[in-house]
Amino acid sequence: MHLFDALLSSLFRTDFLEYLPMTRAITVLCLSGHDPGGGAGLQADIETLAAHGIHALGVITALTVQDSRNVRRVIATDPRLLDEQLDVLLADMQPDAVKLGLLGSAAQLDVIVHRLVALAVPVVCDPVLRAGGGADLVAVDFPSALRRQLLPQVTVLTPNASETRRLVPEAAGDLDASAAALLADGCMRVLITGGDEAEASTSVINRCYEHNAPPRTCEWPRLPETFHGAGCTLASAIAARLALGDTPDDAIDAGQRWTQRALARAVAVGGGRRIPGRFIE
Ligand code: PLP
Repeated sequence: MHLFDALLSSLFRTDFLEYLPMTRAITVLCLSGHDPGGGAGLQADIETLAAHGIHALGVITALTVQDSRNVRRVIATDPRLLDEQLDVLLADMQPDAVKLGLLGSAAQLDVIVHRLVALAVPVVCDPVLRAGGGADLVAVDFPSALRRQLLPQVTVLTPNASETRRLVPEAAGDLDASAAALLADGCMRVLITGGDEAEASTSVINRCYEHNAPPRTCEWPRLPETFHGAGCTLASAIAARLALGDTPDDAIDAGQRWTQRALARAVAVGGGRRIPGRFIE
């Protein structure tokens, strides 16, 4: 075959077309802790985003010592290192959404908040305060700093019921009043998840709150166990949908559906709680 013919035939091969570069990958910036067991934290984010066809930009906010049962120690990333990483990364890359997980210290908030203001993309915040195994993951002053500094930049906040009570102690356990306070602090939607409530009940009730509208209730069959990394998976799935262009309400609904499927396919990686099965289309 002549060189010209070979060139021509390669141009019209469809398998060749599959290798044409895409214009730009859709990306989500994740600021999350590292769980060496891979159930929660940044690995949960990367797997969830990859399952949605999205590339994760991963900045580690804390290292942890933990297994599938509980967290033993959290070592916060130096805020100056965080700042330097974000400086270099964001000079080169423009994420389509941000997902915030475990933040290692109140000092990290200053660094993160001014980046969020400059980025002006949807932000999902999973306010990780306590591990499912019971360990406290943040200092006592952290919840109030998070509310004051971070919430005005947050599109969707995804606390579970016990995190909500800790974030809003003045509401004395009333979740509706807590959600109203969190909205007043400046976030756009609050999705309070009920997976950690009343394990004897047959369903999990999640409630989605927004300004000037009654809460929406989303009810899911309660699966017969508790999980490690469910909250990170849900927040990442919502961030994925926002990055793909969903409205906040559509993203919240689709993120819950996807997470419920991942929980139904949970796998054991150790002797403690199972982790979501995130290798689903
Ligand atoms: N470790 C890291 C790094 C996390 O981000 C989280 C929760 O988001 C946990 C541990 C605790 O996860 P869980 O409460 O699902 O066990």
